[in-house]
Amino acid sequence: MGRVTSFDPELSPRRAARAEAERRATEAIEVVAVAEKPAMSRRLQRESAVTAAGRGTRWASQPRETRRRVAVLALGLTVIAASGVAIGAARAGSDPAALAAPEVVAVIEGPPAVPAEGLPVPVLAEAPAPASRCDDPAFTSVLSSGDDAATIAAIGGAEAFRSAVASGIAPCISLSDPNRQWVVVNKKRPFDPSDYRPGDIVMPDGVRALKESGLRRQAADALTALVRGAADAGAGEIGYLSAFRSYTNQQSTYAERVAVVGVEAADRESARAGFSEHQSGLAVDIVPCDRSCGTLDDVAASSQGAWVRDHAWEYGYITRYVEGRTDVSGYEPEAWHLRYIGTDLAKVYHDGGYTTLEEFFGLPGAPTY
Ligand SMILES: [Zn+2]
Repeated sequence: MGRVTSFDPELSPRRAARAEAERRATEAIEVVAVAEKPAMSRRLQRESAVTAAGRGTRWASQPRETRRRVAVLALGLTVIAASGVAIGAARAGSDPAALAAPEVVAVIEGPPAVPAEGLPVPVLAEAPAPASRCDDPAFTSVLSSGDDAATIAAIGGAEAFRSAVASGIAPCISLSDPNRQWVVVNKKRPFDPSDYRPGDIVMPDGVRALKESGLRRQAADALTALVRGAADAGAGEIGYLSAFRSYTNQQSTYAERVAVVGVEAADRESARAGFSEHQSGLAVDIVPCDRSCGTLDDVAASSQGAWVRDHAWEYGYITRYVEGRTDVSGYEPEAWHLRYIGTDLAKVYHDGGYTTLEEFFGLPGAPTY
């Protein structure tokens, strides 16, 4: 059974009238659908240009939606009018063959765009903001797995990750989570909990350590590769003085500095307990070594220091405190202090010419506590 396409004399007058009305209504739909297009599109194209210029490109889909809604309204009115005429005739017991066609034709043949033009244009709601990846269960599942590299890949790469965090559209990514490689710690951003301690601290293989002080496993493996890279490049041996520092260790370190140079000077070179990147297990203070190792202050002028400035990012490390950025980082330049953020983010940091992690992630500067 398809739609009724011709008059059937076997039908009762009432059913026959309804069938004829349906047939004519169907024709009306087709006629309007064809006639509406060009008549409407020119007006809506003008609206489109004005709207797009006034409100930006995200409104680009509005004219198509408007056109669709107007067409639906026009079709609906035409069908209602045609049906009303036919049903009225059937109720009056008219001969279906003598159905008042001219009245129906008037509806069908009238310029279909005119009633549509006269209709109020629907007021569309403001287009919604771009959906956050935090609303995507597939992404939040990867995020909550704790796999930093997989999370960055899932959001579309390191630059997409950085951009999403910096613009505030990914609030589920926390720069305060001490377990993530993208954690940002500074004088305004202490560890939470203050006595946080990572669970996977290990000593890096094949690296001279002047203290029994380890790094989180990925940072340790990256330091091993970095030290090998420097040696292979002929830059000399890189050792390190210290890496992970516990909360209690920071307390004693800071207190010692305050005793020697006072609070003001100590705050420029040593973090208060709970505010040091070293507590993350992702920061290391390197030293240049020959037969014996030099001091932190020897790094800047050493061949090892020069190599690290150019190549540390290739291993996922950045120089966290550089010349001229004390106003943002809160620390005097430290050529020896390397911070692991993973190879993906470190490449974007390097390629983008960033000099502070605060600016990288769109955070305010932290010159003081
Ligand atoms: Zn350090």
